[in-house]
Amino acid sequence: MILSTHAVVGGAIASLMPSHPVLALVCGIGSHFAIDAIPHADYPLRSISLRPRSGATIAVNRSLFRDLIVISLDAVVGLTVAMWLYATPTAALAVLLGAIGGMLPDPLQLAHKFYPKEPLRSLQRFHKWIHTKRRLRWPEAMGSQFLFVLLTIAVVEIVRACIQSS
Ligand SMILES: [Zn+2]
Repeated sequence: MILSTHAVVGGAIASLMPSHPVLALVCGIGSHFAIDAIPHADYPLRSISLRPRSGATIAVNRSLFRDLIVISLDAVVGLTVAMWLYATPTAALAVLLGAIGGMLPDPLQLAHKFYPKEPLRSLQRFHKWIHTKRRLRWPEAMGSQFLFVLLTIAVVEIVRACIQSS
C-alpha cells in the first residue's frame, strides 16, 4: 500500500496504546505487513525499481527527482493526517512512532537494494512473500485504498469505545 495509508493505519493503531511508544512502533511495523497482504495497487515509480535484477545503481535524473518528490509527499501527507487525527498531547509520541513504524518496511526495501545482507535479506524475503500478488489497477484502485483507510479509522474507534467501556 502507499506510504500515507501505512502511516494513518499505524498511527490509528498506536492511538490505542498512547503510553506505550515502543509497542506502538512494533505494532506499526506489524500493521505494514498485515495490510500489504490485502490486494491493492501502488503508484508506479519511474526510476526506483526494487526488482532484484535491476541492479544496485539508481541513475540520478529527472525521473529519480520526480520519484523522490512523490515518495516524500506521500510520507508527509500520511504523517500529517495521522498526527492531526490522533496526536493528543499524551499520545503524540506513540502516534508518531506508530505512523513511522507503519511506513518503515518500505524504505528498508530500498536499503536492502544497496545492502543485500542480513537482517535486511530475510526481511525483504518476508516482505515479498506476504505482499499480495494480486495487483489492482492503478489509479482506479486509489479509491479502494482511501475507503480502506476510512474503514480502519472506524474500526479503531469501535475498539477504543469497547476498551473505554470495559
Ligand atoms: Zn510494503
